Amino acid sequence: MSDSLFSKIIRREIPADIVFEDDRLIAFRDIHPQAPVHVLFVPKQPHATLNDVPDGEAELLGRLLLAAAAYAKREGFAESGYRLLMNCNHDGGQTVFHLHLHLLAGRALDSHFG
Ligand code: AMP
Repeated sequence: MSDSLFSKIIRREIPADIVFEDDRLIAFRDIHPQAPVHVLFVPKQPHATLNDVPDGEAELLGRLLLAAAAYAKREGFAESGYRLLMNCNHDGGQTVFHLHLHLLAGRALDSHFG
């Protein structure tokens, strides 16, 4: 896949408010937050969409989810709750084609799905 905006953040070529990083993932605050807490969890390996993740990368997807849950526990909102979502392609509302998981928290989110 061609170079993405999030790859530039990973390489520190553009700034971001990074809240977590390990060998395979990075997490930073969304530039247009939709909730008091809005963090993007991003694999460093740049798959464009969920459709592009091969079976062999199942562990990476697990890590993505568990990193978000660990962040929620560390930040103290795991019990009050949070939402994780991943957009895929045009109809899913995806705008950045480098796989990422949104974590939203800090207020009661409505149950509207579309
Ligand atoms: P999606 O629509 O699921 O592809 O989500 C892309 C997200 O990336 C949006 O919520 C944007 O607000 C966010 N975003 C775009 N550019 C940046 C940036 N430079 N730093 C942080 N978040 C960004």
